Amino acid sequence: MSERVEILGVKVDAVTMAQAVECVEKLIAAKKNSIVATANAEMLMRATKDEELKNILNAAELVVPDGAGTVWAARHLGYKMPERVAGFDLVQELMKIAPSKGYKFFLFGSAPEIADKAKAKAEELYSGIKIVGTRNGYFTSADEPAIIEQIKNSQPDILLAALGVPKQEKWLAAHKNELNVPVSIGVGGTFDVMAGAVKRAPKWMQRAKLEWLFRAMLQPSRAGRLVALPKFVMKVVRSKKN
Ligand code: UDP
Repeated sequence: MSERVEILGVKVDAVTMAQAVECVEKLIAAKKNSIVATANAEMLMRATKDEELKNILNAAELVVPDGAGTVWAARHLGYKMPERVAGFDLVQELMKIAPSKGYKFFLFGSAPEIADKAKAKAEELYSGIKIVGTRNGYFTSADEPAIIEQIKNSQPDILLAALGVPKQEKWLAAHKNELNVPVSIGVGGTFDVMAGAVKRAPKWMQRAKLEWLFRAMLQPSRAGRLVALPKFVMKVVRSKKN
């Protein structure tokens, strides 16, 4: 398989989008309750201070390089990193092949109605896709047994969890064996974008590696999270010297 490169203590797979899709397909076939993570700079920074998250990422079957920051860091550290594999794009690629392969999805997370809207959008874009269930991402611990039952009983091949980082990774790791789903992926704001509640940066901004700036402009509440980026760059530069 692909090479795993270590960035600030987290091993990230040096994969192209096509290799990531192929890997997920193998994990579906293996039926081993696998976890796939999409590591952007913010997640990698968080993992330096959150041992539980770091351990979950290092135990995940696939960690894709989500974001220009992760690709830059790998290359700065002297590794080969073919391209960015954004979580949103990975989900679209998997949904595209799902009708012909028969892959079933469950959409868990985001505000009420958002997961249903994302389901409707997927059905419109990917004719014949099977979305076997949805559940919003706002719950108490008392609701968890019912959520787990709902997901388990609907028997998806792929569970998409959009609860934000690190909640989605921790939730999936804690419940993966009860859920018994071949592949679970933490997908952050993917349903918000699919539902049209949040826009993705225009292609030219994505190409110029400015998607983070676009998100901050659109959701000023997120702007505070941007301080993680220069800190990430400093940390990676320093980690190379050591
Ligand atoms: N969310 C959720 N439950 C929570 C907290 C957040 O379902 O308890 C959802 C939120 O509505 C949003 C997603 O998780 O749809 C997080 O999106 P964001 O873009 O912030 O993801 P991140 O950048 O953390 O990956």
